[in-house]
Amino acid sequence: MRCYGRHWQQRGGDAFTIAYARSVSHRAPLLYLAVIFNVLLVAWTFRARAPLAMLLVAPVIVVLAASRALHWLPDRVATRPVDQLRHDIVAMQRLGGWGALIFVAWSLGLYPYGDPGQRELLHFVIAVTMFAAILGMAHAPETAVRLALAFTLPWSMFVLATGHADAVAISLAQVFVTAILLTMTQVQHRDFVRLELSRQLLARRERQTAELASAHYRQATVDYLTGGRNRRAILNGLEEHLAGPDDGMRPWLALFDLDGFKHVNDTYGHAAGDHVLRTVNGRIGAMPGVSAHGRLGGDEFAILFDGAFDREAVLAAARALSAAIREPILYNGATLRLFGSIGLHRAQGASASTCLERADAALYKAKEQGDGAIVAFGEADEVALQRRITVMRQFNACALEDRLRLLYQPIFDCRENRVVSIEALARWSPDGIEWQAPGEFLAIADATGRTGELTRLVLARTLAECRPWLTGLEVSINLAARDVVREGMAETMAAIVVDAGASPSSVMLEVTERALQHDPKRATAQLLAFREQGFRIALDDFGAGWSSLSQLRDLPLDRIKLDRELVGALATDPGARAVTGMIVALAWQLGIGCSIEGVESEAQAEAARALGIHLMQGYHFGRPEPAAEALRVYAQGPAASAVGIG
Ligand code: C2E
Ligand code: CA
Ligand code: CA
Repeated sequence: MRCYGRHWQQRGGDAFTIAYARSVSHRAPLLYLAVIFNVLLVAWTFRARAPLAMLLVAPVIVVLAASRALHWLPDRVATRPVDQLRHDIVAMQRLGGWGALIFVAWSLGLYPYGDPGQRELLHFVIAVTMFAAILGMAHAPETAVRLALAFTLPWSMFVLATGHADAVAISLAQVFVTAILLTMTQVQHRDFVRLELSRQLLARRERQTAELASAHYRQATVDYLTGGRNRRAILNGLEEHLAGPDDGMRPWLALFDLDGFKHVNDTYGHAAGDHVLRTVNGRIGAMPGVSAHGRLGGDEFAILFDGAFDREAVLAAARALSAAIREPILYNGATLRLFGSIGLHRAQGASASTCLERADAALYKAKEQGDGAIVAFGEADEVALQRRITVMRQFNACALEDRLRLLYQPIFDCRENRVVSIEALARWSPDGIEWQAPGEFLAIADATGRTGELTRLVLARTLAECRPWLTGLEVSINLAARDVVREGMAETMAAIVVDAGASPSSVMLEVTERALQHDPKRATAQLLAFREQGFRIALDDFGAGWSSLSQLRDLPLDRIKLDRELVGALATDPGARAVTGMIVALAWQLGIGCSIEGVESEAQAEAARALGIHLMQGYHFGRPEPAAEALRVYAQGPAASAVGIG
């Protein structure tokens, strides 16, 4: 391939060719204009002396120069294909050389007809045209060299041949200045190439940055699994709606949560689960009235329903969606049936997160109702939510130390006829007046991330109030789900116990099955860590919900606490008695103690005793009481008389 100068050798690429041609197009027409002017000037000066044939060459040169000038006009160059440009640039080098030669030959041909003044003019015109040509083509060295040779050689030889008095000096000046000019063209050409290269690099970087940014945006807003919108995209869309004026047509935000998804994942594998999520995503998208939808995470989807819907219409649309999801999903020959709960809220308020919070509250209610219920967030919900937010703020802001109170409930050993342990039960007050039970504030403690603090405080206070090292009493503390997976919790708790001057072996930690469910492996390891520190461990609420007997073998347990649901059935239901008897026997074989809670009557206590359970807890033996009261009952010795046990 031909090149356009030394530095072009490796750079004949399209972008370079275009840049180069554009640069030429800004110079060549002007250069041709200068040539035309000079030719006309010379012809006019020699009009009376030169032969007509010589003068007639002028219009020919003018026409040729004009056609080349037009050819190189920037507008025309800009529209020409790159192959043509490449050809033009190569042609320019050749034509430039020949054009210069014709111009010099014609000028020198006129020389004999001129008077001394006109001859000087010729020298001047040739010199000026040559310098203009070389400088004009400064960034195209090869063309510049050809121009220089075409001008300098014949002209110097002519000057020497005509015997001009200063012929040698003139020729030397010509050659020297030309050489300098050519050197300059090299520098300029190099600068041009560098500039163009860095411009191209910059353009390439900009392009890459833009591509990267769009890829990032895609990644950040697309759900990798369904290929639809993800949480961020949905929330961004919602924010856009909220940023506009509230014309009563803001969309409805629906949160949709699949029921039975975990079952599909566990039974048919994750590929089936993924297929379900994709199918559900597709079905949501196909529903009329859905303006946008995406997956928030897990098996939860967010949907924006048309803002033109009123409450009835959106409920109808949600019912239609619910029915569409209930349609069987086929996967590898299996027929999967799922359904989902829906929480609805008309988008309003300041931010997407406030909308999400309300739709989520509605969804929570729907899930509680079960069977794929649909709930729209209403005024009463707003009141409840505001209350929850207020309590949440109060909980978040309070010093737990000042707002927490502990009640203690005895655990009674029927064989020894005495209290052997007391369980600490927390009460929290938002204002120091009204006291709330754990059912009301534990979820908030969890949501505000303060369960660890709560547990540490309960432990320290229980030890301070009950002083097990003096009373010989075992104290029981309830752990929150997060305590069971929190790193370093065992060491922290052991340090608190040792600081108080007690022994971890006097502390029973109560853990519910539900707390273990989330991450059983980690929870088991944590229980072992507690055990290593000397704590004892009880499995709380056993028998409520789906208890698994294998846990009794796998977990490091000292006691299981049978749930009060079982207690209620013991006196009346032979089946419950059989199950409880089996659990007690198994626990006994595994060397695990057994207690029962929620015992409210003597009949229940009797039924439990008949099954071999001796440790009992419940209103029948003592209600949760402040420390002073609980310890007084304990100190009085056998509480049997108080509760009527003989
Ligand atoms: P739990 O560990 O099963 O505690 C026993 C709950 O049953 C207590 O409710 C107690 O007041 C109640 N109860 C005891 N005897 C009877 C009875 O004969 N009949 C009836 N109907 N109920 C009885 P409370 O104090 O409301 O505690 C509820 C739950 O909150 C506790 O259940 C426990 O899981 C949790 N909890 C309590 N204190 C704490 C704490 O300090 N930290 C943590 N993480 N959880 C706590
Ligand atoms: Ca408990
Ligand atoms: Ca319990």
